[in-house]
Amino acid sequence: MSRAVIALGANLGDRGSTLRAAARAIAAVPGVRPVASSREVESVALTVEGLDPSKPRYRNAVVVVDTDLAPQALLDALHRIEDEHGRTREVRWGDRTLDLDVVAIDDLRLDTATLTVPHPRAGERAFVLAPWVDADPEAVLPGVGRVADLLEAIGDDTERVDEPRLFEQHERGSAA
Ligand code: ADP
Ligand code: MG
Repeated sequence: MSRAVIALGANLGDRGSTLRAAARAIAAVPGVRPVASSREVESVALTVEGLDPSKPRYRNAVVVVDTDLAPQALLDALHRIEDEHGRTREVRWGDRTLDLDVVAIDDLRLDTATLTVPHPRAGERAFVLAPWVDADPEAVLPGVGRVADLLEAIGDDTERVDEPRLFEQHERGSAA
């Protein structure tokens, strides 16, 4: 069994409802059990050209799960959930109803054609680090360092949304 950290993002549609539905769908995947989750944050859209305030803002969150699935099987399940929420793939880092990324799986380092873990840009993105540390204050980005320290180093440009945690009913209170 492994412990996986999954980042959720949306900047089209009813973003909060989508993140909540996606978290429920993740928890319902056979071989996946919810462990901890963050509240939501909001931030300016990041595109290949950089931050773009003219684009719809993002909602982001992080969930932590235990899973018996192999890494690629977990990613495949996440892609199915993206598809169920009307995800299309035209532009890299383009607007999307739902983006689900594998941020980390235990201390695993993996680099295949379809899956790189830890996610190579996680350490530079406050919209990943801020909800991650909210879900798990002691979190460590494998090979890099404490998530709380990384967030402090880059600066937190996200805004906390006043909504409950995504896995409210399942929360054990700590990812430790
Ligand atoms: P992005 O999230 O970078 O905007 P996509 O969600 O369209 O882009 O993902 C593009 C591809 O990135 C996916 O098809 C997937 O195979 C690959 N990928 C590599 N590593 C990861 C990861 N850790 N989490 C999610 N997708 C990943
Ligand atoms: Mg993605």
